[in-house]
Amino acid sequence: MKEKSETNLPAESAAPTNFIRNIIDEDNRTGKWNGRVETRFPPEPNGYLHIGHAKSICLNFGIAHDYDGICHLRFDDTNPEKEAQEYVDSICDSVSWLGFDWGQHLYYSSDYFDRLYEFAEYLIHQGKAYVESLSADEIREFRGTLTRPGQNSPFRDRPIAENLDLFRRMKAGEFPDGRYVLRARIDMASPNINMRDPVIYRIRHVHHQRTGNRWCIYPMYDYTHCISDALEKITHSLCTLEFEDHRPLYDWVLDQLVDQVPCHPQQIEFARLNLTYTVMSKRKLIELVENKLVDGWDDPRLSTLAGVRRRGFTPRAIRLFVERIGISKADSWIDMSVLEDCLREDLNEHAPRRIAVLKPLKLIIDNYPENRHEDCFAPNHPQKPEWGKRILPFSRTLYIERDDFMETPVKGYFRLSPGAEVRLRYAFIVKCVSIEKNSHGDIEAIHCTYDPDTKSGTAGAESRKVKGNIHWLSAQYAHEAEVRLYDRLFTDPYPDSGDKDYKTSLNPDSKKIITAYVEAALCGAEPEQSFQFERNGYFVADRIDMKSEKPVFNRAVTLRDSWGKVASA
Ligand code: ATP
Ligand code: MG
Repeated sequence: MKEKSETNLPAESAAPTNFIRNIIDEDNRTGKWNGRVETRFPPEPNGYLHIGHAKSICLNFGIAHDYDGICHLRFDDTNPEKEAQEYVDSICDSVSWLGFDWGQHLYYSSDYFDRLYEFAEYLIHQGKAYVESLSADEIREFRGTLTRPGQNSPFRDRPIAENLDLFRRMKAGEFPDGRYVLRARIDMASPNINMRDPVIYRIRHVHHQRTGNRWCIYPMYDYTHCISDALEKITHSLCTLEFEDHRPLYDWVLDQLVDQVPCHPQQIEFARLNLTYTVMSKRKLIELVENKLVDGWDDPRLSTLAGVRRRGFTPRAIRLFVERIGISKADSWIDMSVLEDCLREDLNEHAPRRIAVLKPLKLIIDNYPENRHEDCFAPNHPQKPEWGKRILPFSRTLYIERDDFMETPVKGYFRLSPGAEVRLRYAFIVKCVSIEKNSHGDIEAIHCTYDPDTKSGTAGAESRKVKGNIHWLSAQYAHEAEVRLYDRLFTDPYPDSGDKDYKTSLNPDSKKIITAYVEAALCGAEPEQSFQFERNGYFVADRIDMKSEKPVFNRAVTLRDSWGKVASA
């Protein structure tokens, strides 16, 4: 049974240390689990995964990987109304994309419905569970509050035989939804409200995506989760801090079943990821998608893993991010720029350089012959000469970025302006000699002369220094491409804090679609291939819409953190 779960994680990633790894090290020292390490990632298939889930995925699979253990992917599918196969598929897809493999360890809580039912009867036999006749409102009323203890239900001491009979009839479908529930019999005076006889089964006459109409009673999360962990022989059950108060219940259930289940896993809580400028609750993500405030679950502006993937984030960048933010017990906020920096770091290293002109302005070189063209050579990566160079054809009419020209330059502006000189990257030094305007006074083209002795890579190139160095494309050889300029979805770093409506801080400029010019090499980009467009940012060929006849690129991230500093392109 125990074979190593395969991952394609880079071997060089040094294992970070954190309090959970310290616990495991100590368990291995004392032999608590005989050296076994088994974790699980337990999503509910009721939505798409988001970047917060990536923290839990990297933690669980990362620990299994580093300790020669196993990590299970388990769908916690006990809420049939909200769950769907589409979500199961997207979750599997996102976990694989991040680089993790559960091997044969794919499970569903619904696989355990029979066992869970048997255990519930067992608890009834032991006097540890009873059928409740109070309504949901009455149960709430009897439960008490943080300052007021709960009250015993009049049905708490129902005879065992009667409990069994009613529970079996609940299962047989004799009662409507809500008529009865099964409760654990713990302690209505407990200071921990979770221990005040929590509901463990409810009646729901609904179709389940895996078990069909076999069941009309469904177990509750707290009851299901610990038993699923135990049946799968999980050693360390890692979850987020909001479950800390549920741990006594986790332990109580397993203590009652000590003779029935193979082991008693240890629940350990860690702080969830909170990321600025985004929302991560599934309810809000669903709302954004259903109300068409974004373009679907994989909208590149969303924090879903499908979204960040389409945006151009790489699994490597996300794993780096999770490693960098670390694991602790203290709740905190991580700034979006930390995530963006991880992507810059990854792509700076791994993305080939290309040229694209996003806001074109025509530049005509008056002293360059009409029908001539010549090859210039641009390195594919400035620090990796082994990646080689590619040809950029040079000719009389070029495109440059509109922002690289100013008719009346401000102080410190070193790019083109009337009379000024710049280097056209990988080519020649040019001097602006005149401007062509239309009848509205808009600049339509600028005219330059070039100095033939200054070609990059030739002996004379270094003879003259100029401060500006701008990119360009030959108009004749450039191709049109659709470029989608994405920015943060929210203008507020905490869009859903307090009682704010997060929908009021949607960033109206979070998506702009433009037609840009790109070099020929980009027409052959594979979907999902990443590039640095020199001086413009990191871009990815859209994984759905990229076609060589009509290339489509998404801006993943700008070159520097320019949020709130300068207007973006
Ligand atoms: P909801 O958004 O409805 O609260 P959820 O995000 O908790 O749902 P689950 O499917 O239950 O959804 O999550 C699966 C696992 O991912 C859980 O173990 C949960 O603790 C973990 N997880 C969820 N959100 C985060 C987060 N922001 N940071 C770290 N782990 C998270
Ligand atoms: Mg949850």
